[in-house]
Amino acid sequence: MELLLATRSIHKVREIREILSATSGLKVLDLDEIGLKWHDEEEALEPFHTFEENAHSKAEYFHAKTGLPTVADDSGLEVDALGGAPGVRSKRFAPVEGLSGDILDQANNDYLVEQLGSLELEKRTAQYVCVAVVLGLTDQMIVARGQAKGLILAEPCGNGGFGYDPYFFEPNLEMTFAELHPDQKNKLSHRGKAFRTLEGILAEMEI
Ligand code: IMP
Repeated sequence: MELLLATRSIHKVREIREILSATSGLKVLDLDEIGLKWHDEEEALEPFHTFEENAHSKAEYFHAKTGLPTVADDSGLEVDALGGAPGVRSKRFAPVEGLSGDILDQANNDYLVEQLGSLELEKRTAQYVCVAVVLGLTDQMIVARGQAKGLILAEPCGNGGFGYDPYFFEPNLEMTFAELHPDQKNKLSHRGKAFRTLEGILAEMEI
């Protein structure tokens, strides 16, 4: 069965493909693979205050465009000392315009570190959240959520992962997500948990 992965993030595509690779019978397609070019409308697909609504909005848009069963992931970082920010604003946290890719990630990370100032490590608690929404496989939408807890460091560590990973410290392994092997990150991450939950739901529905 084909499932379209509705994201423009090469990092998310890589991680989700790895996580779902164990699911037999599921052929994951990405937007590049089906030749769907970027459209400016996509800028406006995440206006909501919850991960669920934003993930649904993205899945709905790409499902309507392609007619394919579609999964979209909305994810982000919630920092307790910042009242849950950046949350659904994670991709556009820093007050900057016109940046993208690694440079945008860097601006977001710098802004996060600045916001937390000299707060002690034990008060820098945070969680990554990921919500995956599937539309078009059945007549109902399917939703799966995953979370991963950590601490936000003041200095980056590691070169793997993407986004906030060099600052996101996993206290049990005593490493940041950017220091983990991709398989280890997928095992512990919000995205790994959400997409494995999704696999379980699909298996139960005998899809
Ligand atoms: P989305 O495209 O609205 O889901 O944006 C997610 C944003 O949250 C990304 O651009 C990152 O800033 C952040 N984020 C989500 N998941 C991760 C992760 O696994 N590692 C690092 N940053 C993440």
